[in-house]
Amino acid sequence: MTIGGFFDQTVARDPEGEALVVQHQSVRWTWSELKARVDAVAAGLLERGLEPGDRVGIWAPNCAEWVIVQFATAKAGLILVNINPAYRITELDYALNKVGCSALILAPAHKGSDYVAMVGELAPELAASTPGRLNSARLPDLRLVVVLGEAEHAGCLPFAALASDDISTLLSIEIDPHMAANIQFTSGTTGFPKGATLSHRSILNNGTLVGAGIGLSNVDRVCIPVPLYHCFGMVMGNLACMVHGATMVYPAAAFEPLAVLEAVEAEHCTALYGVPTMFIAILQYPEFDRFNLSSLRTGIMAGSPCPMAVMREVIERMHMEAVTIAYGMTETSPVSFQSATDDPLDLRVSTVGRVQPHLEVKLIDGAGNTVPRGETGELCTRGYSVMLGYWDDAERTAEAIDAEGWMHTGDLATIDADGYCRIVGRIKDMIIRGGENIYPREIEEFLLTHPGIADVQGVGIPDAKYGEELCVWIIPRSDVELSEDEIRTHCRGRISHYKIPRHILFVDGFPMTVTGKVQKFAMRERMLELLG
Ligand code: ATP
Ligand code: MG
Repeated sequence: MTIGGFFDQTVARDPEGEALVVQHQSVRWTWSELKARVDAVAAGLLERGLEPGDRVGIWAPNCAEWVIVQFATAKAGLILVNINPAYRITELDYALNKVGCSALILAPAHKGSDYVAMVGELAPELAASTPGRLNSARLPDLRLVVVLGEAEHAGCLPFAALASDDISTLLSIEIDPHMAANIQFTSGTTGFPKGATLSHRSILNNGTLVGAGIGLSNVDRVCIPVPLYHCFGMVMGNLACMVHGATMVYPAAAFEPLAVLEAVEAEHCTALYGVPTMFIAILQYPEFDRFNLSSLRTGIMAGSPCPMAVMREVIERMHMEAVTIAYGMTETSPVSFQSATDDPLDLRVSTVGRVQPHLEVKLIDGAGNTVPRGETGELCTRGYSVMLGYWDDAERTAEAIDAEGWMHTGDLATIDADGYCRIVGRIKDMIIRGGENIYPREIEEFLLTHPGIADVQGVGIPDAKYGEELCVWIIPRSDVELSEDEIRTHCRGRISHYKIPRHILFVDGFPMTVTGKVQKFAMRERMLELLG
C-alpha cells in the first residue's frame, strides 16, 4: 500500500472528521476537504508535465499548503524534497541541484527573507520565462516555480492556479511502495546535511508504528510545533495522524512556547510533540501556569537526549502521563526505538524504550564485533525503515549502510537484558581526555541537578596536555547568579575529577538547527575562537 492509498482509506472512513487545523491561517478542514485539495494539486502537478519519480522541492515554513503538497506529491508518484526554511541562496542552490528538482514550491517570503528574490538571484531567467518553462543555466533541472498564495510573481505559477479540476489522470498512476517518496536532508547537527532518500513503505510504516506507539486514533488532536521539513513533523506528525485519522494541529508559530501553549489549550490537544529544548522552554515560560493543559494525555519527545528531570516535569506539570520518548534518525524514516506509554516511569525517563517492531538491532565495537549485553557500542539497525541511500552519493551511502544492510547510526548506546536502550551519545561527541572517555550527556545530566541551571551542553575541545578537555555552556535560571567556582564546587566529590569541566561559559542560548538541536560543532568552533 502507498501513502495515497492510506490517505484515501482514512478519508473514506471518516470524511467529516477534522483533518487539519492551522491557527495562523484560520484553516480548519475535514478529511474530505483536505482530499479535494490534495487531489486537485496532485492532478495539477501531473498536468504541468511532471512525471512519477520527478523531484518536487518544498521550501516553506509549516502551513496548510505544505500538508497538501506532501500528500499530493505522494499520490502523483513524485518525490517530495523537503527544503529547510532556514536555507539561503548557497544551500538552496546545493539542495536543488543535488537532487535535480524539476519543480519548486515556495513561500513568497518568510521571516523577512524574500524567497522569490533568492530563486531569482540563482535563476535570473525566471522573470522573463513562461511559468513551467524555466530554462536556467544555474538550475538546469528546474522548470516550474510555484509560489504559495494568489499573488502573481513574474515567471511563477501562483499556488492557487496549480489545482486542476480533472483528477482522472491520478487513476493511471501506479506506485510501487518501494519507490522513493521523499528526500529529507538530515538536521546538519554534525556538519553539512545529507539527502536521505526514503520510500513510501519506509515512512508510511514508520508513521503507522509511531502513531500506534502512543495509541493515536480519530479522537486525538496532535499539536505539531516541530518543522514539517523534518521527519519529526512530516512522518511522526502528519503521516502518523493521517494513518490513524487524528487531527493535525499547527500552532501559530513553530517553537514559540506561547503559541504552543495557546494552541494546546484552544484546540484541546491530546498530544504534543517536541524536542527536549522546546519542552524546557515551555516549562520555563513565565506564564506557564495560566494555561489549562488538562486535555493532554500523551506526546513524543525525540531528537536529542532528554534530561530525566525534564521528562518528570512534562509528566507531572503538563499532564502528559503517557508521553513517550522516541529515538531515530532521518536515515531510518526516522524512529527505531520508542518507549511504551505503560513502561515504568524510571525506564521511561532514562531510556528510549525498546526497538520498534519489524526491525533488527545490534551494538558493535570499533572492530565491528557485536558487544555483550549491557556494554556500550555503536547502534546499528536493519529493516524496512533504512533509507534507500543518500541521493546521488554512493560513497557516503556505503559508509552509512554496510553490505549486509545494517545502518550504522554513529550513536553509542547500551541495551539491557529486557531490551531497553540507553543512548549514551554520539561517537563524534565523545571526549577522550588523557585516555579517559567522557560522555557529555552524563555530565549534562549531572549538572542539571544543580538548581540554578536551566540547561547545559558539553563539548570536547582540543587540549595540548590532555588531548581534549571538557567545556560546558550553561544557561542559568532567570533569577540566579552563577559562578564558575560554584559549578566546580558542586562537581567536586560528586563526579570524578577528570569529568569536572575545564571551561565554563554562561550563555543565553546555544547554536541550534531549525529542528531545535544543539550544534555542538558550532560550540566547538566558538570556543576555539574565544580561547584564541
Ligand atoms: P546530521 O546527521 O546532519 O549531523 P542529525 O544527526 O542531528 O544531523 P537527524 O537525523 O535529525 O540529524 O537526527 C538524528 C540523530 O539525533 C541521531 O543520530 C541521534 O544522535 C539524535 N537523537 C535522536 N533522537 C534521540 C533521542 N531520543 N535521544 C538521544 N539522541 C537522539
Ligand atoms: Mg545524523
